[in-house]
Amino acid sequence: MPQESKTVTVEGKKLTLTNLSKVLYPQTGFTKANVIDYYRRIAPYILPHLHNRPVTLKRYPHGVDSPFFYQKNCPLHPDWLETSPPDDYFKENFCIVNDLPSLIWIENLASIEIHTLLATTKNLLQPEMVVFDLDPGEPASLIDCLRIALVMRDMLEGLGLKSFPKTSGGKGLHFYVPLNTVVNYDQTSSFAKMVAQVMEKHFPELVVSKMKKDLRKGKIFVDWSQNSRHKTTACVYTLRARPEPAVSMPVTWKQVETALKKNNSESLIYTAEKAIERVAKVGDIFKDVLMLRQSITAPKPNLQSKPLDVSEKDQEYNLKIYRQKRNFKKTAEPVGGKETKLDYIFVIQKHAATRLHYDLRLQSQGVLKSWAIPKGLSSDPKERRLAVRTEDHPFDYKDFEGIIPEGQYGAGEVIIWDKGYYINITRDSRGRTVSMEDAIKKGKIEVYFEGTKIKGGYALIRLKPGKDEKENWLVIKLKDQFVGSLPDDLQQIGQSVVTGKSIEDLKKTNKKKKILS
Ligand code: MN
Repeated sequence: MPQESKTVTVEGKKLTLTNLSKVLYPQTGFTKANVIDYYRRIAPYILPHLHNRPVTLKRYPHGVDSPFFYQKNCPLHPDWLETSPPDDYFKENFCIVNDLPSLIWIENLASIEIHTLLATTKNLLQPEMVVFDLDPGEPASLIDCLRIALVMRDMLEGLGLKSFPKTSGGKGLHFYVPLNTVVNYDQTSSFAKMVAQVMEKHFPELVVSKMKKDLRKGKIFVDWSQNSRHKTTACVYTLRARPEPAVSMPVTWKQVETALKKNNSESLIYTAEKAIERVAKVGDIFKDVLMLRQSITAPKPNLQSKPLDVSEKDQEYNLKIYRQKRNFKKTAEPVGGKETKLDYIFVIQKHAATRLHYDLRLQSQGVLKSWAIPKGLSSDPKERRLAVRTEDHPFDYKDFEGIIPEGQYGAGEVIIWDKGYYINITRDSRGRTVSMEDAIKKGKIEVYFEGTKIKGGYALIRLKPGKDEKENWLVIKLKDQFVGSLPDDLQQIGQSVVTGKSIEDLKKTNKKKKILS
């Protein structure tokens, strides 16, 4: 029989621990003494994640089967325990858990779950990460979460962002995008919302981004709403109030992939004991979340400093070629150069220049990476269509539809033939994701389109350089459920997805203009 209460000295601080034999997890007999002991042993790993981070205590004084309460205001505490002073926004003075005595002290309050703000007291207006909470609605399972999480990982990787998963301790998966750079909550929450909405748009049968409970049945709820100033989320390594003493445990993407392959998520479930064994072996695999500096604000195209060197085909971030070719007093095409929104759109413009062609443009690195495809895209994987790389276009070009005047570069009619979102799904030979920037450099891109007309996977492959200056690529449909979704004759779907106009409609207007002038 363990002692009911005892006084201990932890790092020079005297603490009286009470009700130690109280069972907090009735199904397993895990007591308050066990809870405190877990936190004592996990302390070297959890403390860095708690450092200067205001915490909400989720207290279960009578165990996980009995009523709990959230405590934001730090209860009556010893002098040495730090708190964050209330301000105009937060009326509460949260506990700050910066050392082992503080951790043991909050655990003596049966704070089974520790939830943290995304910011620290250093600057409470600056979230240090973006967090997504993937929550399966019955009968969807953790396995379904893993599948969605991997797609989201790839999508974020395509934006140059690394992310880190942890289990919720239950059926869900959390994943974090470390920032540790200057950003505010408006930016992080609109970014998270955009990602969730794009996921919902791409996978409407699997993903829901809205809170409403009845929408979630059999789907994964991608909860982006945690990214607000007042929200706290379950800290990594916290115990969860499940039937078993489960831990919200960081896992590697490799573990996620393996679990998905085996269709068994058992290996991702960590109880207190297993968690301690694991950290002893691998250390804190979540530490990058605290260190890695990443930005969700799109890179600005660098317009001045880079010298123009066409021989190297150095078109990255460069709108100089685009601008040299055009007289903006005469054409209505955009000059560009405004900071782009973080987004990943694609557009295909049908362009009746000297030769009719389709211009495919993918947003990347602040501009639209562009290819001219004489025959347009096919939905037949056996068709290999030529795509000639053209100069980067400004982001604003995605909205351009109209007539480029005679005598100007590319004179002729342009309609927005299709537009939508794309996800970079490029992998290297070892199956690792490749960023869009690297994929373009290496000459092998795989993307997943979600447009009105174009859907599913396509590969773009650069051919060996020939005699001419042009970069020739092939665009090939990947095998998926969208094979055969396009008519052989694209003229059958020749209208603008924005205005409904065809090239012929624009030509008529053009003629009228000419007669009038
Ligand atoms: Mn063109």
